[in-house]
Amino acid sequence: MTDTSCVFCKIAAREVPADILRETDRVVAFRDLNPKAPTHILFIPKEHVDSIADIEDRHGDMLADVMQSATHLAKTEGLDDGWRVVTNVGPAAGQTVFHLHFHLLGGRQMGWPPG
Ligand code: AMP
Ligand code: ZN
Repeated sequence: MTDTSCVFCKIAAREVPADILRETDRVVAFRDLNPKAPTHILFIPKEHVDSIADIEDRHGDMLADVMQSATHLAKTEGLDDGWRVVTNVGPAAGQTVFHLHFHLLGGRQMGWPPG
């Protein structure tokens, strides 16, 4: 279900512009507006889901789509030295947009554990 107040629903519906790199039946991938690494791409389900904490059995194909899309884009972006996929759940983890999204980060050395 589309949430009319949600910016990522609007990106999926092409109502808000974004640098979209890939789209499947279930997932849209676009560049983060405020990148935290040389490559910073977001993957969202077209369906509104608040976060990974709200995932249901029927979302399995969508999640597989996200991971396959991330792997594909990591290759096309040339992230041969390594890359990271992360999703934040809730304010304490740093979630600011409450439409499920996965960050693909790469192109620089990253610390572990994340802050
Ligand atoms: P999070 O803090 O995990 O909720 O991540 C939200 C991410 O969305 C941040 O990295 C923002 O820079 C990014 N973001 C917010 N609005 C937009 C937008 N309109 N287009 C692209 N990226 C966005
Ligand atoms: Zn949404």
